[in-house]
Order: sequence, then C-alpha cells, then structure tokens
Amino acid sequence: NQIIEKKKEFLLPSSHRNHFYANPPQIVKGSMQFLYDDQGKEYLDFFAGVSVMNCGHCNPEILEKTIQQMQTLQHTTIIYLTEEMVQLAEKLASVLPGDLRRSFFCCTGSEANEGAMLLARLYTGKNEFIALENGLHGRTYLTMSATGIPMWRADPDLSPKVHFAKTVWDSNTDLEQAAKASIESIKEIIQARGANHIAALIAEPIQGNGGIITPPAWYFKELKQLLEDNGILLIIDEVQTGFARTGKMFAIEHYDVVPDIMTVAKALGNGMPISAFCTTDEVAKAFTKPSASTLGGNPVSSATALAVLDYIEKYELCETAAHLGEMLKEGLIALQAKYSLIKDVRGIGLMLGAELVKEDGQPASEETDVILEKLKDRGIIVGKNGLNRNVLAFQPPLVITEANVQTLLHELDEVLAELQ
Ligand code: PMP
Repeated sequence: NQIIEKKKEFLLPSSHRNHFYANPPQIVKGSMQFLYDDQGKEYLDFFAGVSVMNCGHCNPEILEKTIQQMQTLQHTTIIYLTEEMVQLAEKLASVLPGDLRRSFFCCTGSEANEGAMLLARLYTGKNEFIALENGLHGRTYLTMSATGIPMWRADPDLSPKVHFAKTVWDSNTDLEQAAKASIESIKEIIQARGANHIAALIAEPIQGNGGIITPPAWYFKELKQLLEDNGILLIIDEVQTGFARTGKMFAIEHYDVVPDIMTVAKALGNGMPISAFCTTDEVAKAFTKPSASTLGGNPVSSATALAVLDYIEKYELCETAAHLGEMLKEGLIALQAKYSLIKDVRGIGLMLGAELVKEDGQPASEETDVILEKLKDRGIIVGKNGLNRNVLAFQPPLVITEANVQTLLHELDEVLAELQ
C-alpha cells in the first residue's frame, strides 16, 4: 500500500503503529454515521474518529455555517475585533456546568489541558500535579507527563511534577473497592508530598483511552471534597466525553460535581480544530498577562462550534445518546451472558466499552483485533482501547438510529459466534 509506504518514509516512526487493521481501508468520504473507502464500500461508523464526529461526518447543516464563514473571513488573530469567538464563548457559558463561564480557546485537547495546568499553577502558586493511572491527557511535554498509559508516553521519565494515583479500575477487584483505593492513594500522595506543593488533580470523568473506566456515582464528590480541603484544584478533562456523548452535555454532570477548570476539544469542532479550557470568574482572575493562541478560536472553527452547539440542542443529541446508549448497553450485556469472552460491559450513554478476557484470565488482545477486523469486513467500524488494548469501544456519531444499533449487535453476535 503506497500510503503506508509514504507514511514510513515521511512521518515519524511514532505514527507507524497506529492502525487498527492489518489492511486498513483507505477512507475517502464520510456522510453522517457512514464512512466510505476508495472501493466504494460503506462502513457504519461506531467510533466517530475517537468521539470527534458527534454530529456526524460532513453534516450539511453544520458545514453550511463553516463554508459561509470560510468565504467571509478566515483569520485575523485576536488583536483585531471579531465576533465569532466571543459569540462562542457566550454560548459555551450557557451550557457549561455550575459557575464555569470563562473560556480560553486553542486548537487541540493537549493544548487545552496544558493551559488548564498552567492556569492552576497561576491560581494556586503551586507547581505540581496529581493524575490518575490509565488517564490520557495529551501529547505535549506536561500533558504527556500526566498521561498514565505507558504506550502513550514516549518516555517513561517525563516531568517529575506529576504524581500518579491509582485509577478506579483494577482487573482483580470490583469497582467500589477500586474507587475507594483510588481515593486512598490520592490521600497518600497529598500527605507524602504536602498539599502546599500540589496545584491540581487532572482526570477524565470516564477514562476513554484507558478502557472506558467509569467511576461509581459517589467518586467525584468525594474527590472534590478531598481536594477542596487541601486547597487543590480539580481539572476535568472532557476532551473525549464532552458534547452529549454520555447523554448529558458533559460527563461530569452525571456526578453532580463542578470542577474548577474543565477542558473541551474534539466534538466541539466536529472535525474542525478547536479546544478550550473553561473556568470560573474567581480562578480566571489569576491569568492576567496577555496570552492568546494564534489560531485558537479562529472565526471558522468558532462558527462551526456554534453550529455544533445549536445542532446538539435542536436535534436533542443528549436524549439520543441516553436512549440509544441504554439500548446498546442492554444488547452488549445480553451478548456478555452468551459469550464468556466478554468480561465486563461499562460506560454511560454512547461511550461504551466491552472488556474481552480469555478463559485463563489474560486480556484477549488478539481476539479484540480479530473482532475489529471481522466487523470491518462486515462494514462496521468500532474502536479499541484499554491498557492491554482488549476493550471494544463503541462511541458512534450521535446521529445513529435504533436500526444501526441493532445492526451492530447482530453483526457482533455473529462475529463472536465465529470465534468460539
Ligand atoms: N484528553 C483526552 C481525554 C483525549 O482522549 C485526548 C486525545 N485522544 C487528548 C486529551 C488529547 O487531545 P489532542 O489529540 O486533541 O491533543
């Protein structure tokens, strides 16, 4: 394959191993919940480019606004007065939880998290962080340092400023116990290092790449209290979970907690690059020196993001994600009863995972790849994640239908039967 050869020649080796498939299809076109390859084959997309295309591929209603803006004004920098980014900030404030209402726009999730950590440093005057094992926060020096998945850390020895606490998952214990152990390990870090050194804890509400790790209902309340008692901020990374994915606008709303800083990216632009870190009036006060991202919140990305937020509301995508998520989860649980390979089904809304484990208790990583490949041949794209890459990930565009969910469940049932 020419594209693979050229990737090997012109890109860094870091990009060579990222394909899900032995023979990856060349995707040339997208339309809502469908993708098409260069042979004209149609795929039902259950991964949405890692939770980016929540409103569907090449959504015509959103594209109309993107193209209109592109033909009017593309970029100036914020040195000049333009309206789109400010309109977006105002709209975002209306959907953000609690008293979060100020945003700083940039282009990627990594940048948003980097900015959030900087803001926590500025506000608290402290310089160290806690992150959770299994979390993923980005590819910059500090955000990769806060990433607790070995395969996504280019160097095991990154910034010593980040301390890792246990996540809410351990293959040998139940969720409640793992969540308690996580809180305990955070307490231990605070005690050992001293609260006077730690600016913030950064966490995904549901760990996406780490394997759809979904904390119990009480977890974030207890965590927030612990941090507040110690003068430590909570940064919630909604890069993958945000914008209706879990049946609410943001996943942290399921936990009834308002973080001090929240980061968003991916689905905000539905394919256009835009991200933000968002905070309260109080915390925002700490960032007074001039600072801006050249392309962050540019008119085209901002106009697109505004259209995305309108679309989510107009077509009630939160309701769709909740309803179809329930249906898909029930279907996956029924398959779990039928096939011992499925050890666990977890997640909320349309952010679901099925962990595959062999009879001997070992992660079924090869089987996961076989299932992905077979589903792809049948015209369905699903994701995989988890520390051992043995969790099937279902994170489709939120414009799918009940019939699409039934198709996926039916094909997955047949593929699992073939494997037995
Ligand atoms: N946070 C989370 C939770 C993510 O899933 C990702 C990307 N997968 C990032 C941050 C980094 O975002 P980006 O690739 O846009 O820098």
